Amino acid sequence: MTAASLAQVLDQAAAERRAVAGLVVLGWEDARAYVEAAEEAGVPVILQAGPGCRRHTPTPILGRMFRMLADAASVPVVCHIDHARTRDECSAALDCGFTSVMIDGSNLPLDENIALTAAVVEEAHAAGISVEGEVGVVGYSHGAASRASDPGEAARFARETGVDALAVSAGNIHLSEAKVTRIDLPVVAAITAVTRVPLVLHGGSGIPWEMRRRLAQECRVAKFNIGTELRMAFGSALRAHLEANPGTYDRIEILAATATTLRAAARDIIAALWRPGQAADEASCAR
Ligand SMILES: [Zn+2]
Repeated sequence: MTAASLAQVLDQAAAERRAVAGLVVLGWEDARAYVEAAEEAGVPVILQAGPGCRRHTPTPILGRMFRMLADAASVPVVCHIDHARTRDECSAALDCGFTSVMIDGSNLPLDENIALTAAVVEEAHAAGISVEGEVGVVGYSHGAASRASDPGEAARFARETGVDALAVSAGNIHLSEAKVTRIDLPVVAAITAVTRVPLVLHGGSGIPWEMRRRLAQECRVAKFNIGTELRMAFGSALRAHLEANPGTYDRIEILAATATTLRAAARDIIAALWRPGQAADEASCAR
């Protein structure tokens, strides 16, 4: 019985200068592989059902699937909804197994984002469920533009909403296929200085490893969302198997052939993010 809330996992991670991987799940096979990877590494993991996943599979099925895996796991597993845009989406997730929701009001004016997020926090916390909010806009590679988080707005957002985790925009971008993302460290440092809420970076696949470590150890970034990196590992393994086995047609057999690769890739990410932090002082990432 190790389903955990986002707050439980991130508060510990932030205090110990570690980070937890928020892994983008698209179905049963990858969800199972990620939990097995976390068990092999002996560290917590966050399973995330994003908008694409929820369009493909009904949210209640995903919630119960995540929860079944979490309850049977030997490590803490957070069952998380990623990028919900409405209060109704969050409300619907509260009673089907999820332990955490992200309400993404980043497309709204700040006052409306705060009001929406605060309402979700009130309802979710009453049910014992954590909430992640977003301030600023994390854009998409070849898509919507980003708007960097303003530290003053971030402080107000955290204070007035009561969120358990705060997603910020500082150069990170969704769906980046190359590790070339340049993080604006002073922006993250300025936000770290004005709130105690653990920070989240979406678009983690594009962030080089040395920067991931610095952000976790020096800036209290406690959650990195990782999707593209694992989708690429899955796709490569799938192509290799099909090219080597042109007579294979069974879905279960084909997908099973990707499991070892996917599990190993996830284990490496999960374990590296959870590396013990250094005894950094509060303002060190500003230097
Ligand atoms: Zn995201």
